[in-house]
Parts: sequence; C-alpha cells; structure tokens
Amino acid sequence: MSKKPKFQRPTGMRDILPSEQPYFEKVYRTVAEVAQFYGFDRIDTPIAEDLELYERGTGSGTDIVEKQMYTMKTRGGDALALRPEFTPGIVRAYNEHGMLNLPQPVKLYTLGPLFRYEHPQAGRYRQFHQVDLEVFGEESAAIDAQIIQIFYTILKELKFTHLIIEVNSIGDAQCRPYYKKVLVNYLRPRQNSLCADCRRRTRENPLRVLDCKEEKCQRVKAQAPQILDHLCEACKTHFKSLLEFLDEADLPYHLDPYLVRGLDYYTKTVFEIFSETAVQLREAAPRGASLAPLERGEETVQRNALVGGGRYDNLVRLLGGKDVPATGAAAGVERIISLMKEKGFPAAEVPGSKVFLAQLGDLPKKKSLKLLEELRIAKISIAESLGRDSLRTQLARADKLNVQYTLILGQREVLDGTIIIRKMDTGEQQIVKIEKVVDELKKRLKK
Ligand code: AMP
Repeated sequence: MSKKPKFQRPTGMRDILPSEQPYFEKVYRTVAEVAQFYGFDRIDTPIAEDLELYERGTGSGTDIVEKQMYTMKTRGGDALALRPEFTPGIVRAYNEHGMLNLPQPVKLYTLGPLFRYEHPQAGRYRQFHQVDLEVFGEESAAIDAQIIQIFYTILKELKFTHLIIEVNSIGDAQCRPYYKKVLVNYLRPRQNSLCADCRRRTRENPLRVLDCKEEKCQRVKAQAPQILDHLCEACKTHFKSLLEFLDEADLPYHLDPYLVRGLDYYTKTVFEIFSETAVQLREAAPRGASLAPLERGEETVQRNALVGGGRYDNLVRLLGGKDVPATGAAAGVERIISLMKEKGFPAAEVPGSKVFLAQLGDLPKKKSLKLLEELRIAKISIAESLGRDSLRTQLARADKLNVQYTLILGQREVLDGTIIIRKMDTGEQQIVKIEKVVDELKKRLKK
C-alpha cells in the first residue's frame, strides 16, 4: 500500500474536487434563481465574527456555542469565532448598516461555508455549506409559509419529490416560560433516565432536552408535555394562520410537537424539511426515537434534515437593534448534494468545447497563445494541450473530448499565415487564412 502523504485535510473537512463542482453549481444557481424571483438580494458577511455575537445570538446554552465553535484570539486580542451559522452575522449587518431605514421587508440571501466542531460522520462535517434566506420586518405567518415554500420549491427544482415539512411553534416570551416550567416538572423526576448533559439542561435550558440525540433522552421526550397545548393566544393564532397558508399552498406538512431546533432565538414558527429517504427511515424507527441514529448496518444513516428554520422576532433587538420581527431558514448543501447523487438527480451541465487546437513545433506553439485569446474573445470555447508535441497524441485527445473540429497549426501553416480546420467525424480538412479562422469557425459552429 502506498504511504499517505504527510499532509491530510483536517478531520471533518472536505475538498470539493472538480468532479463535484457541478453539483454545487447546480444548487447555488437554483437558489439564486428562486431567491431572486422572490425579491431576495444577496449579502455576504465575514467568515469570522465577534465571539460574543454567537454567545448572545445563537445562545450560550446551545450545543453550537457550548461545544462546536472554532474560536480564536487575534494577535490584536479580539475574540472571534468562525461562523457556525449565518443568522447572527446577517442580523449584525442589518443593524450595522441601518437596514431598518430601507423599505421593509428586507429580504436577504447568502451562501457559503460554516464551521462546527462536530463529531464527523456521513452528512455531518466540520466545514460545510449552507444556503440561507432571511426576511426582516414582517410579522405575518404568510412570510413563514413563504420561506417554507421557497425552500420546498428549490428542492423541487433540484428534482426532489416526496418532501416532508415538519412544523411546530415554540411560543414566545408570553407562553414559553410557563411551558418550560411544565416541562421541568416533567423532567425533574426523570433525571436518572437522562444523559448528563440533559440533567444539566433541565436546570439551564430545558427545551434543549427535546432535541438531544441520545436515545435514552429520546425515550423521555416521547411522553413529555407538548408546547402546542400551552401556547398563548397570539402564538396560537400565528400557528393556525401558518397552517392555513401551508394548506392553501398545497405544502405537505406534519406537526412535530417536539421540534424545537438547536438554537435559542426562535419564537413561534420552527420547521424542518426532510426528503423521502429520511421519512422512510423515520418510519422504520420506533416511535419517539425519530431523531436517533438507526441501528444495525445503518450506523452512518441518520434522520438528517435538509432545511431548518423559523421565526426570530427578538433577535434583532437582542443584538442591539430595534424591535424588528424576522424569519429565515437555511439548507445544508452537502446533504442535498449527497441525496442528489444517491438518487441520480442531474448536476449542472458543464459545456464541453467543440474545438481543439493542435500545434506542431516551437513557432506554432508561440502563435497558439495569441490565437487562443482571439477565440476566447470571440466566445468560442476551445480545448488544447499546449504541452504536447506529437500530432497523434493531440488528435487522440481531441477525439476523447468529442470535439467537432480540430485546428492544426504546423510550421508550414505559420509561415504561410494559414491554419488547417479538420472536421473530426469525416476527417475532411480545409486550409484557411489564419485571420479568417474565427469567422469560419463561427459559421461552422452555427450550423
Ligand atoms: P442548522 O443550522 O443546524 O439548523 O442546520 C440547517 C441545515 O444545515 C441542516 O438541516 C443540515 O442540512 C445542514 N447542516 C447542519 N449541520 C451540518 C454539518 N455539520 N454538516 C453538514 N450539514 C449540516
């Protein structure tokens, strides 16, 4: 066996090789098209932000902040974190750039890498990519439904079928504190059945117990009181209205009364979108254990959501802005791509070249550089092997690339100011003046 090279990529981080790029391209292009249609503008925020932005925004009791952040001290002494999610950075930008003064709602989308120090496994990386949509300044449940619809549409455009949307409401400052008490009263006598983290969470952040991945905690969760039974009137009305919008838009949803999502800032609506495969797996799992990894031979398969999001009406203020209602969601690009591959869904097409340039000898090689640039300006995509000398090797390469024409530039042609155009399927060759070659190719390629 050959020895491993000295340097390897960091654990949980991947190279996106050229063969995978068309999938990323396809996802990003689809997102941009759909998001722009719905009036979203692109924003890009820094990959690193103030550590405190996430401690406050994402929440200091969350797994992300407690266990998963890549943090650093800069040489100047600033405490920064590599972004583990997009929302706090976008809210920071909304506040910092006074976007409240723009006509509301402000609709933004972004995409790029995120970093979480997680236990690496299939579908879970330490550097991964998301596409993310956020809407500021709208409190209507219609916008929550629209965000769900947009992600549903994006997945449909990528050829996903049988998508399932899980929705829940996690209430607001009015009703959640009371529900928390009810939940703690339920959890307290069951401490021995919970993992060590959840025993602590019962005291510090009881809702987090509901999204613990430990199987024993899942069992306790299965009988826990449900927040939907404890919503205040405003949250109840909002949730009812959301479901009506989803019904009206023919979006297939399930209520998951224990869906709380791993972040602290959500108010009212939370949701996740799964693909068919994930749902089948879920149905195979025992009830109440739907978030647990499946057993026997399927240890790499989890019920992984493709999209997750919700409303966060207090976050803009919490991060130093005004009282601005907001809602948003993000999709995991690697998870989408892995399912696209598994299901044979198409990636973006990479347009191949229709022309190949073969050159023979020093002088033709030198002339080739200029000719290639002329063809680029004329938008004729052309392949070449400038490093090669033998005509046979170059024609074999042209054959492999399946081009329609090969240009052959030899010593004699350079001296005569000509070039040969070879039609690859018939082997027919024509000599043309070098200054005419662009026009001639354009004419032939148009046919
Ligand atoms: P979250 O920001 O945790 O709500 O995640 C939103 C989506 O991002 C999930 O539904 C996944 O598709 C994806 N995702 C989250 N964490 C990871 C990870 N560590 N590796 C790959 N994808 C992830």
